[in-house]
Amino acid sequence: MIEWSTRLQGVQPSATAAMNELAKTLVQQGHDVINLSFGEPDQDTPLPVQEAAIRAIRGGQTKYTLTRGTYECRVAVAEKFERENSLTYTPHEIIVAPGGKQVLFNAFFATVNPGDEVIIPRPYWVTYPDIIRSLHGQPVFVDCFEEDGFKLTPESLEAAITPRTKWFVFNAPSNPTGAVYSYDEMKALTNVLLKHPHVLIMADDVYEPFVYDGQKFHTIAEVEPRLFDRTLTMNGVSKGYAMTGWRVGYGAGPQKLIDGMAIAQSLINSHTVSISQAATIEALRGDQSLKAAWNDMFKERRDFVVEHLNQMDGISCSMPGGAFYAFPSCAAHIGKTTPGGLYIENDGELVRGVLTEAFVASIAGTEFGAPGHFRISYAASNDELDRACDRMGNFFAKLKP
Ligand code: PLP
Repeated sequence: MIEWSTRLQGVQPSATAAMNELAKTLVQQGHDVINLSFGEPDQDTPLPVQEAAIRAIRGGQTKYTLTRGTYECRVAVAEKFERENSLTYTPHEIIVAPGGKQVLFNAFFATVNPGDEVIIPRPYWVTYPDIIRSLHGQPVFVDCFEEDGFKLTPESLEAAITPRTKWFVFNAPSNPTGAVYSYDEMKALTNVLLKHPHVLIMADDVYEPFVYDGQKFHTIAEVEPRLFDRTLTMNGVSKGYAMTGWRVGYGAGPQKLIDGMAIAQSLINSHTVSISQAATIEALRGDQSLKAAWNDMFKERRDFVVEHLNQMDGISCSMPGGAFYAFPSCAAHIGKTTPGGLYIENDGELVRGVLTEAFVASIAGTEFGAPGHFRISYAASNDELDRACDRMGNFFAKLKP
C-alpha cells in the first residue's frame, strides 16, 4: 500500500490540472477550446536565444555545470540586476535554478522549519502555500482587497508579523491580480519590514517586464537598501523572454542563504540544464528591444479584454496594472444555472460551465484564495481573445437565476 508522506498530504491536488485534463478531453472530442488558463506568453522564444542554445549543443556544452549555475550565466544575471534594478550582486550571491519555482523551493527548503510562519498576501500564486505546507511551515495569509487594487497595506502587513515569521513573500506585478505598487506604496511596506529584522523577504519579480500605463517597476532591495541583506531577489526568463519550457530562474541574496539553496538544489536536480543556461546568457545580454514591443502588445490585449469583461452581464473587472492576467469578479453569478443545466454553486463550477458550454478555459479564484473571481490569461492571440470574449459574453447573458 502506498501512503503519501505527511509532507505531500498538506498539498492540495491542483484543480487547475483537473481543468486542463477536462479541456484536453473536450479538444479530443472535437471541440474548439480556447485556453486562457496558461501563465505563459504565446510568443516563441526569440531567435537569437534559440540559436545560442543550438551553438551550445554543437559546442559541447552538454556536461554537468556547477550546482549554482555556470560562472558566465551568473555574471550575466549580475549584469542584469545592475543594469535594470541598480542592485549590485557578486556571482557568489547568485543561484541559477530550473525555474523561478525551484528558486523559491530551494530558499524555503533551506530555511523553513516546522511551525515557521510565512506571510503570503492573498490572492496568491498557489505554489507559495503549497511549498510552505510541504515543509510543515505555516502560511499566514493577509487579505488584499479589490477596493485597494488588491494591494497589501502596511497596516495589515504589520499586524501579520509575529516572532515566528520567517519570510514575507512579495509578488508584484502579481499573479493573479496584476497588482503593481508605486515606489511610495513599496516604501510604506519596507518601512514596516525595517522594524522587524528577523523577517526574510522574498521578492518574486518574474512579471517585471509587464508593467503598463507608464508605471515603473521597483524591487524591494532597490527601494530600501537597508533590506538588501535579508532579501532574496528572485526572477527568471520564463515570462519576460517567452522561455517557460527552458526552465531557468535565478535568485540573488545573502551568501549564506545562496549556499543553503545550492545544497538543496544539489539534492534535487544538481543544476539547470547546461543548454538553457547558455540560452539565458543570450537572453539577458542580447538585444532587449523585443521587451518593449511585447509590453505594448500585452497592454493592448489587457485593454481589450478588461473592456469586454466589463460589458458582460454580471462581470466586473478592475484594471490590472501589470502581468498578463485579468481577475474579474463573478460573484453576481453564483447561485445561477447555465443553459446546459449546471448549477453554479461557486467560482469552480462557474469556470467549469465556461469551459464545457462556452469552450473557454480559465481558472477559478478559489485556486488563488479568492472565491467569487476567476483568472483569465490574456497572453493569447487577438483572434483568440476576440472569440473568447464573444463566447463568454453569450454564456453569461444566458445564465438563469
Ligand atoms: N512566480 C510566479 C508568481 C509565477 O506565476 C510563476 C509561474 O507561473 C513563477 C514564479 C515561476 O515561473 P518559472 O518557474 O517558470 O520561472
